Amino acid sequence: MPKVTLTFDNGPTPSVTPFVLDCLARHEVKSTFFVVGTKATSKEGAPLVQRASSEGHWIGNHTFSHTTPLGELKRDAALWEFEQAELALAWLDQPRRLFRPYASAGKLGRHLLHPALIERLQAGAYWCVLWNSVPGDWRDPDGWVARALEDCQTRDWSLVVLHDQATGAMKHLDRFLTALRGQGAELTQDYPPECVPIREGKIVRPLDPYVAEAPL
Ligand SMILES: [Zn+2]
Repeated sequence: MPKVTLTFDNGPTPSVTPFVLDCLARHEVKSTFFVVGTKATSKEGAPLVQRASSEGHWIGNHTFSHTTPLGELKRDAALWEFEQAELALAWLDQPRRLFRPYASAGKLGRHLLHPALIERLQAGAYWCVLWNSVPGDWRDPDGWVARALEDCQTRDWSLVVLHDQATGAMKHLDRFLTALRGQGAELTQDYPPECVPIREGKIVRPLDPYVAEAPL
């Protein structure tokens, strides 16, 4: 039975995240929310992060401003993006310290990470969580479900990137979860090892494909 792990990036979004949380609770699915620091500290955003955490979802750092891939920034700016988002989440008691880099359109590549950040992730015992399935919910708010269902059948364990953003895509989440179960998927909160190059601060997969070759 293929395994599927769901993650929700770029929130929290007051008009969408509560709906996503309700839906996940109804289907008894636990996930990870990789939140943007600026949104997680906002008056409306912070309670949503708190709610997600208290309902058993994991919360991860997805940079502070989510504007430029960290591998394209200067050392200090890349570290600042990470540290500011950490400050935004400092009040959360997390079982795992999770980080997902900003990718720009879901593309994996050497733009993801700055070498200075690798040292920081190691020192702080972080998990660097990437992905292997990007159905493109933000660019195709209605068509992503069929693509995601098909894609989840192509591998043993999919780590799917979705977005709790105001695109309209999440109105299909309920249908997606029902169909996933219908095609025999086992939904799990944990991550496929191939998507986690740094685990509790230890480099367990080759990082070269994700680190800037000539960092600024
Ligand atoms: Zn993102």
